[in-house]
Amino acid sequence: MTRTEKNAPLVIIGASYAGLQLASSARELGFEEDILIVGDEPHPPYQRPPLSKGLLTGKATVDQLWLRSPEFYAQKRIELCLGRRVTALDPGARRLTLDDGTVLEHGWLALTTGARARALPLPGAELDGVLPLRTLDDALRVAEAAASARAVCVIGGGFIGLEVAAALRTRGAEVSVIETQPRLLARSMPALMSAFVENAHRQRGVEVLTGRGVRGLVGAHGRVAAVELADGQRIDCDLVVLGVGVWPNGELARDAGLTVDNGIVTDPLGRTSAERVLAAGDVAAVASMPGAPRVRHESIQAATDGARAAASLLVDKPRPNTAVPWFWSDQFELKFQMAGVAREGDEAVVRGEPDSARFSVFYLRDGAIAAAHSVNRPGEHLLSRQLIAAGARLAPETLADPDSDLKAALAAMVTPAAA
Ligand code: NAP
Repeated sequence: MTRTEKNAPLVIIGASYAGLQLASSARELGFEEDILIVGDEPHPPYQRPPLSKGLLTGKATVDQLWLRSPEFYAQKRIELCLGRRVTALDPGARRLTLDDGTVLEHGWLALTTGARARALPLPGAELDGVLPLRTLDDALRVAEAAASARAVCVIGGGFIGLEVAAALRTRGAEVSVIETQPRLLARSMPALMSAFVENAHRQRGVEVLTGRGVRGLVGAHGRVAAVELADGQRIDCDLVVLGVGVWPNGELARDAGLTVDNGIVTDPLGRTSAERVLAAGDVAAVASMPGAPRVRHESIQAATDGARAAASLLVDKPRPNTAVPWFWSDQFELKFQMAGVAREGDEAVVRGEPDSARFSVFYLRDGAIAAAHSVNRPGEHLLSRQLIAAGARLAPETLADPDSDLKAALAAMVTPAAA
């Protein structure tokens, strides 16, 4: 492929939410140059939430997962190059190399390389029946193995682990969740919500073991037969699913000399340390201003908002990403919706009755609503996002009263942030 400098394409490395959104937003904003998305998986961009839920329960099928139809890519002149890995970048020369040796020239370059499942460096990790869950192909392998599994051990009590546990328990398997931290979801949720989630899983028959390390996986005839905990306890199982976190795919950028520190360092517009090289999605570690702490949000919403901001640069109409982060998780019949980022030390205010499984927890920081977690309260979740964006200050008693009208409070509110 030979192109002149003038019409060199935007090349996007990574064919998931951030990469596709960047391409779509570029077109919406009037970006005219060619766009090429390179992805190392053989599939076009697909929905990820069903991988740990509907695809495992049988409620979703693979053909429902594609984010866009083939016609969309053709109409928008977005070319997909799938099943190909980029092996080297030369941002100075605006050139990159693919794993088949092809050298491509680019204009703008966007790195939406995402994150990969952390491996479990333990004896027995190579046994049959020990499966990670990150990609569509991973999920298909887990679904196939789960069809005949009687007892499943899920290692890791984060969102992946808990969603898989809920899905496989719903299918009737015996399920144990093993988590090294003293509580579930310790990385992303305060203790109050961890306790609710743990209780919800136990009530539905999931064995939850927190604060327990894994010594190794024990096999029989090459297949996993048990998980051995650090204290010597053995849990028999015929399937182990790993949900022990992810690692950002920043090596390509690092090897090309970009600043990488737990992800590719960017500003809120997705600009990296290299000229005309952008990054967004799980791999981007975003600092709101120079010197500010960097945050790497691992969520679809952060990927799409970050990609929109990056696309705005392509047409020279910069619109930084200032959106309130949010995400959701479905476990059994419980819909968890999270807005903002709760921190240790925030004042937690519970609205509604946790025993009813319909409630929200608001987190106040310096008197303002900084975050909110809702369980089966979608309306409150939507309001909480607006309240956080408005920098709303509501008395804890008002927030705690389930009859208080938050919509009216939002409408009446005049705050410096909202004015
Ligand atoms: P995660 O949130 O990092 O949770 C993994 C958990 O496993 C951590 O608590 C981790 O503890 C623990 N762990 C690590 N090594 C372990 C071991 N050897 N034995 C037992 N526990 C161990 O990551 P995840 O659940 O794997 O999810 C991966 C990514 O997908 C995350 O970004 C997640 O947010 C995203 N995701 C999102 C959704 C959603 O939005 N609904 C759903 C699924 C996945 P340490 O912290 O001590 O390592």
